[in-house]
Amino acid sequence: MSSEKAVAVLFGKPQTGNLLVPFAMLAINDGAYRTYDIENSRQYGFIYHLSASGFQVMEVDRPYWCEDEKYVERKKGARRIQMPKRFLTRGQDFVNWLHNDGVDSGAEYCEECQDWYPEDDTCYHIWWCGKIGTFSTPSERFKCNCEDCQRARECLRLSRNRLLKRSKGRSYE
Ligand SMILES: [Zn+2]
Ligand SMILES: [Zn+2]
Repeated sequence: MSSEKAVAVLFGKPQTGNLLVPFAMLAINDGAYRTYDIENSRQYGFIYHLSASGFQVMEVDRPYWCEDEKYVERKKGARRIQMPKRFLTRGQDFVNWLHNDGVDSGAEYCEECQDWYPEDDTCYHIWWCGKIGTFSTPSERFKCNCEDCQRARECLRLSRNRLLKRSKGRSYE
């Protein structure tokens, strides 16, 4: 079991709902600091991934939890809170909660679905472009014609047509 421990967690309000959810975590393991990004997905729950190593201070501009103020740099809007109880269900550290209940993966946001997806299980609006070597998302489409992009665009076109036909059919019911 990892001896990683949370030292600061940044919280915020999700687009829907009023409960605070975690957005980022600073953790320490054997004297090494790591920062994680945490995305709040409607379908997958919390998707987290390592975003940086070596930082010792987390900039906070929203509600935050920390065990010691030396780990945070407070910006306007920051207010220290108690760790919400639902993230400590096993009486353990927040790191354990994240590893147990979260999905360890990179995350991509889809503007059309308005949701986050793990990189290996995205919706059909998002695909991997092998030529550029990055994900093509609705908000960041590339004018690329590699095989990946051609195939994905065709798939997108077919499912749009299907949706269109279905909605037309419904109006005659
Ligand atoms: Zn989508
Ligand atoms: Zn491409």
